[in-house]
Amino acid sequence: MREKFSQDKLDRCISCGYCLPACPTYKLTGNEESSPRGRITLMRAVQNDKLPAIDLLQESSFCLGCRACEPVCPAGVEYGVLLEEMREITWQGKNRPLIVRGLFFIVDSKIGMWALGLFSPMAKRRSAQSDLHLMYGCFERRLFPSVSRAVAKLAPEVSCSSDQGCCGALHAHNGELEKGKEMARKLGEKLPGTILTTAGGCAAHLASVIGSDRVQEFSQWWVKREITLKPISKSDRKIRVGLQDSCHLRHGMGVFAEPREILKQLGDYVEIPSAADCCGAAGSYALLQKKNSRKVVSQKVAEIKELNLDYIATVNPGCTRQLASELRRARVKTKVIHLAELVAISQK
Ligand code: SF4
Ligand code: SF4
Repeated sequence: MREKFSQDKLDRCISCGYCLPACPTYKLTGNEESSPRGRITLMRAVQNDKLPAIDLLQESSFCLGCRACEPVCPAGVEYGVLLEEMREITWQGKNRPLIVRGLFFIVDSKIGMWALGLFSPMAKRRSAQSDLHLMYGCFERRLFPSVSRAVAKLAPEVSCSSDQGCCGALHAHNGELEKGKEMARKLGEKLPGTILTTAGGCAAHLASVIGSDRVQEFSQWWVKREITLKPISKSDRKIRVGLQDSCHLRHGMGVFAEPREILKQLGDYVEIPSAADCCGAAGSYALLQKKNSRKVVSQKVAEIKELNLDYIATVNPGCTRQLASELRRARVKTKVIHLAELVAISQK
């Protein structure tokens, strides 16, 4: 029988606790069981049959899956993988949240994916000479179709194929790890060559399955083009712009310098103190754990208000949705926009 957790990954943790200050749920509660180290202790107890697996349910749901615990860990613990395994054990049957079941239902079928694109004027289908394929993303195509249009406009060499499914990140992060991997492999076959994505979460998942050499997140790809950008002006001055990192892009792929490099060309770049911290969107978290998600984002909203920015650039659709809705709630006028759209504005 397959072990519940990858034993080698559990064994890596030396219980040093360096990860505790980086963890947003530990910061919220101060409870050891809501820290990375505490959760790994719980996983070990389940692995050794000292605790029933159901006892992991609460912490597997409370954890954001932001992976901020990974870069600070001196032992190289792959906490993100352990969390995926934890949810694969716990988010089954009646313990799988209804919202997650609904989201799976939509992206699992061709009709569901087609419906997501319905009435969403995303980038038009086209085949180009290069082996670079733009990935539309599931919910990005529905919620922010202007992002794929911006990329298509910036890069005529990119192919846009309508025959592409979900990359499986949604499944992998919500209790269907093996299926999520299988979906990534299938997407890799449908879009041969290099996949260009505007979603940090999808980039990290795809790269972990089909290899980082086959995946390019927008900012990674753009900086390699070495195109000098025109600054964007507003009322005869350069725009003031900040960034919200994508957790998985930053902590999973180590990509954080690239979007900053681009933004420094576009305007007066202002580093938001909590730019690298999770915004509370965290995939399905903002839907499943609304209260906690708002607690996590509240400090960030206050910082953005204080900095009086024109724009916050994002590199992941979940962050765009979360920040736009929370800033609206707080009546902060800063506009939330995907980095690719901001680059497209400067190129007009
Ligand atoms: S996960 Fe890493 S940083 Fe955290 S306690 Fe274990 S070894 Fe230390
Ligand atoms: S993934 Fe984020 S919330 Fe979960 S244990 Fe790591 S730092 Fe904490």
